[in-house]
Amino acid sequence: MNYSEYILSPNWQKLRAEAFKLANGKCEFCQSSKQLNGHHLQYRNFVDCTTEDVMCLCKSHHDQWHSKHSSSTIATRDEVLAFLANRQRSKQARKARPRSRKKTVDFIVVTDNHLRLGMSRKGGWNRTQLEAIGVNWPPPNGWKESMIGQQLPAKALRSFLKTKSP
Ligand SMILES: [Zn+2]
Ligand SMILES: [Zn+2]
Repeated sequence: MNYSEYILSPNWQKLRAEAFKLANGKCEFCQSSKQLNGHHLQYRNFVDCTTEDVMCLCKSHHDQWHSKHSSSTIATRDEVLAFLANRQRSKQARKARPRSRKKTVDFIVVTDNHLRLGMSRKGGWNRTQLEAIGVNWPPPNGWKESMIGQQLPAKALRSFLKTKSP
């Protein structure tokens, strides 16, 4: 029997069905019951495979394993689960990193110079730009002094400068 014969054989179909039942019809990693695959932990010879050798994985986690391992890789259940968990952790870490970096550079301390840069040629500020940096309209006395030294989101400061009057 070769591999393609085996994959279509009643033997494998039956073994897979048993393995799925043992796993309660759920991916052994994420518990999803969508698109289940039977993954061979090892092939031995085709005839000797038992449910111990077959793991129930959803397509996405099965693909993740095989993106790094060939079908002849021999691994235990625990090794497959550990690999998938590791991958998930590093994926989450990658996602979290840019967010925290953004937070640290995204604040700017307002200086006297920023306020001057936002000033119109006539020497004033308009309502839109002041509201962008949280100053009420009409601006109270001393608003400039109270803005200087404050931390503002860089985005707010950018729109303060962008919306200035000519
Ligand atoms: Zn899964
Ligand atoms: Zn597989």
